[in-house]
Amino acid sequence: MSVFSKKPCKRVVSYLFTTVLIFSLVLSPSASINSYAEPEPIVIVIDPGHGGEGEGNTGAIYNGITEKDITLQLANALTNELSKYENITVYQTRTTDTKMTLEDRAAFAKRVDADFVFSIHFNASLEHHFYGSEVWTSAFGRFFQKGFDFGQIVTTEWSRLGLYQKGVKTRIGNTGRDYYGIIRHCVSDNMPCVILEHAYLDHSYDVNMIRTSGFVDKLAHADATAIAKYFGLRSEALGTDYSGFTYNTIGKPAGIVRQDRTEPEVCNIKVLAYDLSSGNVLVEMTTKDSESPVIYFSYSYDGGQTFSLLQMWDRNKQTQSFNVRVPSGTSNPSIVCRSYNNYELMAESIPFRFNANFNY
Ligand SMILES: [Zn+2]
Repeated sequence: MSVFSKKPCKRVVSYLFTTVLIFSLVLSPSASINSYAEPEPIVIVIDPGHGGEGEGNTGAIYNGITEKDITLQLANALTNELSKYENITVYQTRTTDTKMTLEDRAAFAKRVDADFVFSIHFNASLEHHFYGSEVWTSAFGRFFQKGFDFGQIVTTEWSRLGLYQKGVKTRIGNTGRDYYGIIRHCVSDNMPCVILEHAYLDHSYDVNMIRTSGFVDKLAHADATAIAKYFGLRSEALGTDYSGFTYNTIGKPAGIVRQDRTEPEVCNIKVLAYDLSSGNVLVEMTTKDSESPVIYFSYSYDGGQTFSLLQMWDRNKQTQSFNVRVPSGTSNPSIVCRSYNNYELMAESIPFRFNANFNY
């Protein structure tokens, strides 16, 4: 994660929707290509994020999990699994709990002449209400293409584990270059790089999964499988052969792929029905964002004073209906909904107010 914070966050949550939606493409693929087979061994660098002591170096710390430790644990398992594949050489930027600058990490990758750099991270948000996985790639040319194509493959692997997929994204900084340092430094050294934000350490939906036995190894297996598929690798030891694996490429973009900076354009609600005795309200919500997918929604029954936990929005639909239960004793209930795109930008509906007699 990019923002350092120490505040612990423990919440018991339940979800309306537990179905995990598989990441659907924002941009449609232009062609199907074979994983490329290089005559020389592929050289990749695994970069366990953070490391060392002090602010920023530890990464996110929540629920007893420290980012710098779990990134190293995952990186070690990933390197171990990839070493069982043929035609690949794997390096790690760090194998111990050491402080390393982003420039040093990119310089290391440059020295070993890396074909691809995979920076391993776990996430956290200031609001503590987001959950799921995301991939950051460069906004530029073939670096975007490679990161996006790999992102498609790895998010498919992650979704199999039950992780909600936020998507593959870009972010430009104030200088007009890639915002994230590791991506920016690698790209200026002519190496594609992705940041793999596997899951949120400050949200129980993800943390409950991370805590299950062997989950970090499952993540390492998902990452290794995605890398092996992307490069069309074979492993006699593992009995796997991805040399015939094909994937749809996004193609090289015509221009810079900029992040969405605006909230969803549409966020409207209708109350289809309500039952005064039970407090059940059937709400229909329509939301739309032409630049990035809507991935979460939430609702309020008290006019926006409090909101539900973020629910998963089926990004293939613009209109969905759901039940909101108004607890008895709520005075002046009114329904307000929010929709969030995958850049976490939020739009809020106009409140639906019931007739004056809906006090119970
Ligand atoms: Zn991080």
